[in-house]
Amino acid sequence: MQYLWGVVILLVIGTLLGLLLAVANKAFSVKEDPRLEPLTEMMPGINCGTCGYPGCKELVVALLKGEVKNLGQCRPLRPEAKAKIKEFLENNPDEEGNILKVQG
Ligand code: SF4
Repeated sequence: MQYLWGVVILLVIGTLLGLLLAVANKAFSVKEDPRLEPLTEMMPGINCGTCGYPGCKELVVALLKGEVKNLGQCRPLRPEAKAKIKEFLENNPDEEGNILKVQG
């Protein structure tokens, strides 16, 4: 009988901790720009750091924040990819409808 109480107590504790994690996940979630993932996939993906950022994703984050305005900062980026990124940005404005213009 004592064995069953142990199982019940563990189930109750597990359920409560699961609910706590679910609430914390909802409360502390960070909303990510939906353009981040597709733009990162358009980058070379070699994470060389030549641009001054630790990796391609970090450069894209800076690009979306407006801190980077020239795609030429990424030297390995091919002209076709630059054109694709510019086209993507022109067709995908931010939440407020602003179109991000980049050079390079
Ligand atoms: S220079 Fe280009 S390839 Fe290298 S880390 Fe920066 S964005 Fe990625």
